Amino acid sequence: MDNRKKKIVTILGARPQFIKAAVVSRALSEFSDIQEIVVHTGQHFDRNMSQLFFEQMGIPEPDYNLDIHGLPHGALTGRMMERIEEVLLAEKPDWVMVYGDTDSTLAGALAAKKLHIRVAHVEAGLRSFNEAMPEEINRVLTDRLSDLLFCPSESAVRNVHDGGCLAPGAKIVMCGDVMKDAAKKFYPHRRKADAAVQVPFILCTFHRAENVDDSETLRNLLDALEQICAIAPVVCPLHPHTRKSMETIGFVPERSPIRFIAPVGYLEMLYLLGDCSLVLTDSGGLQKEAYYMGKYCVTLRNETEWTELVDCGYNRIVGTVPAVILPTVRELFAKTPEFPVELYGDGHASELIAKTLHQTPVP
Ligand code: UDP
Repeated sequence: MDNRKKKIVTILGARPQFIKAAVVSRALSEFSDIQEIVVHTGQHFDRNMSQLFFEQMGIPEPDYNLDIHGLPHGALTGRMMERIEEVLLAEKPDWVMVYGDTDSTLAGALAAKKLHIRVAHVEAGLRSFNEAMPEEINRVLTDRLSDLLFCPSESAVRNVHDGGCLAPGAKIVMCGDVMKDAAKKFYPHRRKADAAVQVPFILCTFHRAENVDDSETLRNLLDALEQICAIAPVVCPLHPHTRKSMETIGFVPERSPIRFIAPVGYLEMLYLLGDCSLVLTDSGGLQKEAYYMGKYCVTLRNETEWTELVDCGYNRIVGTVPAVILPTVRELFAKTPEFPVELYGDGHASELIAKTLHQTPVP
């Protein structure tokens, strides 16, 4: 085996990527032959969407902070690529590691590939098969640019093969979901959120562009959530993008029966997940975390990348129409969760990722 020290540049930018990196970076640090350099693109920049996660989860401080945010997709991706390229030319890494499906992911993969630097993609192979989602475009292209594809499930592996997304010489590793590692590792350290929350309650998050950028869809969703408040209090940590969209349609969160709170840290989120009776979300991460915490999930979208949860009956896809959402919420709120099937690995995905990078020789 080649024992030369390997340099990995990790590209991070958005909240879910910080959570994934918290466990992977820790696993990488166990190998003395691996040096990790962290680049924060700045895509998420509010303290409680970014810095808080670094502090709570012990993620190494970024070596580079590019401070790029608040731009449309093209400009955001382009500027990130430009700055990431400068970092890569200076650092000359053996690998660039990217996570998930954001513009930071694609910018990192593209910048690396054009410099002939190998790309490792964590959470490869996920598909919604909805190309109207910016995330779907980012996923497909990043998979095609990657040399190592770390897939969380067998269906993700199939998607890579079926979609012809495997580049010549690239390798797939079915490792399980790194967010399962994170939930397992950090749950014992969960923290009560500052906001007073009475049980029972329904935990809700929503921020997908297709749900909040269209005013009619957003109104529908808010209408559904307000009706759900008659079943149980709805607690909703409010994503900055959603807050902005609400302002645009003149919706005042403070006047609503929905209990909107500021975005919380991961440790507070684990507390809310542990205490809630049901999860209502359009987030990819929350769908799995609901399952890891033994809660049913109602997904406010028309499709999901995490199809196994739906196949097992642990997650219901309801879209954004109140007449469909309400009866499903009523049914699952009253039902005792049972999750006999073990999905998405054994909670050691991050260790397998680190071991694979450690064992893969660099030329
Ligand atoms: N999350 C959090 N605080 C919040 C809302 C979400 O820590 O106020 C966590 C959540 O537990 C999950 C991740 O952020 O681990 C999901 O991020 P998001 O929904 O932004 O992205 P997605 O998973 O949809 O890509």
